[in-house]
Amino acid sequence: MADCLFCGIVSGDVPAQRVAETARALAFRDINPQAPTHVLVIPKDHHRDLADLAAADGLLDEVAALAHKVAEDEGVSETGYRVVVNTGPQAGQVVFHVHAHVLGGRPLGWPPG
Ligand code: AMP
Ligand code: ZN
Repeated sequence: MADCLFCGIVSGDVPAQRVAETARALAFRDINPQAPTHVLVIPKDHHRDLADLAAADGLLDEVAALAHKVAEDEGVSETGYRVVVNTGPQAGQVVFHVHAHVLGGRPLGWPPG
């Protein structure tokens, strides 16, 4: 999709530190990490938000499985990690190409801010 930052990362027009991918999903490091591990997992095709992703056959599963693989690769799957999909303005979604934040490597407070 034109003018979408994360579509630009998928195409390679926008540089990113890629860590893993599948046929339909891509993982790359967040540019402003909030934890020792902070990786974003996205569908390669443009989907705006969680509802849009959930409506795509099997794609949410692929994103979730890649998020877990990233946690394993980063060595945080045993200690614990968090997967966050900010959805809508009040939750703080600023990039409207759906993405799962994979956060780990430090204790994560609850409730979130
Ligand atoms: P959200 O607030 O859930 O929409 O999260 C957007 C995330 O994208 C933030 O954590 C940003 O730090 C991250 N971000 C913005 N631009 C880039 C970029 N060029 N490469 C990697 N991460 C980015
Ligand atoms: Zn996009």
